[in-house]
Amino acid sequence: MTRIGFIGLGNMGGPMAVNLAKAGYDVTGFDLSDAARKAAAEGGVRIVDTVAEAAGAGGIVVSMLPDGPVVRKVYMGEHGVIANAAADALMIDCSTIDVDSARAVADAAGPEQAVLDAPVSGGVEGSKAGKLTFMVGGDADAFARAKPLFDVMGKAAVHAGQAGNGQVAKACNNMILGISMLAISEAFTLGEKQGLDPQKLFEISSQASGSCWAMLNHNPVPGLVETAAANRGYTPGFAAGMMWKDLKLAQTAAQQAGVATPLGAEAQALYALFCGQGHEAKDYSGIFRMLRGEDVE
Ligand code: NAD
Repeated sequence: MTRIGFIGLGNMGGPMAVNLAKAGYDVTGFDLSDAARKAAAEGGVRIVDTVAEAAGAGGIVVSMLPDGPVVRKVYMGEHGVIANAAADALMIDCSTIDVDSARAVADAAGPEQAVLDAPVSGGVEGSKAGKLTFMVGGDADAFARAKPLFDVMGKAAVHAGQAGNGQVAKACNNMILGISMLAISEAFTLGEKQGLDPQKLFEISSQASGSCWAMLNHNPVPGLVETAAANRGYTPGFAAGMMWKDLKLAQTAAQQAGVATPLGAEAQALYALFCGQGHEAKDYSGIFRMLRGEDVE
């Protein structure tokens, strides 16, 4: 039975680890939080007390952690994953982090070790259902070795090229999503204020050149898309705080590359405002209400 060490058993990592255990992998997990450890243990994950123990449990390590500084700390240094994993270990970091940190961790690995950056799309529901999409940077052979795990935890996995490219893809994708949400919010407000029924605009634009994924799936106007957060008081879904984090990561990547992304910068600033008003835990589509000068409740 293949042994896996899993570090970071939170909202996303917990169900991913449990799905691996249910699929027959021998999963050893670690998290700082008692509640996360308990929930994972109930799902069949053996719990240990340190990062080093989880890292040394088998030939594969998976992690799902909050941000770049935590990932650097967990992977690097004497008590970290890299120093305590097998000499030929495969390490898969699924956290959403900055490109620099992802590349620094990959560079720190031993000559026979491999690190993949494999951030995900699909949220907590996708994690529970084993239907995540993985965007993966790193060595092609390591990707092939990791593929059976991606197949358990997700519905799709795309190899995006060199180390860090998974994080680049995630930042670009979510920058598109954030900008799209703002465009839809403005257009549906403009239409309505000019006397156009939002249902009619939806009927037209969803079949015309203005159509996009956010309009069809996360439409911020209540009553247009049945499953959208707009129909349940903007409860997430995808939290505005997460969107803000991803837009900040996109801006960091843009500055490092010397690329102008003025719409991405504007989206980051608007989500900062929305979160600053106390709406971090609301769905990101709730920004529609702020742009109309309305309360999000
Ligand atoms: P979370 O806060 O629920 O889980 C993170 C876990 O990491 C926590 O349980 C925490 O205790 C643990 N942790 C922190 N520092 C640690 C350490 N030093 N050692 C061991 N464990 C440690 O967050 P989440 O929602 O599961 O998100 C995890 C990652 O997934 C983030 O990078 C996030 O951006 C990304 N992501 C989240 C979603 C989502 O919808 N929640 C969607 C896509 C991507």
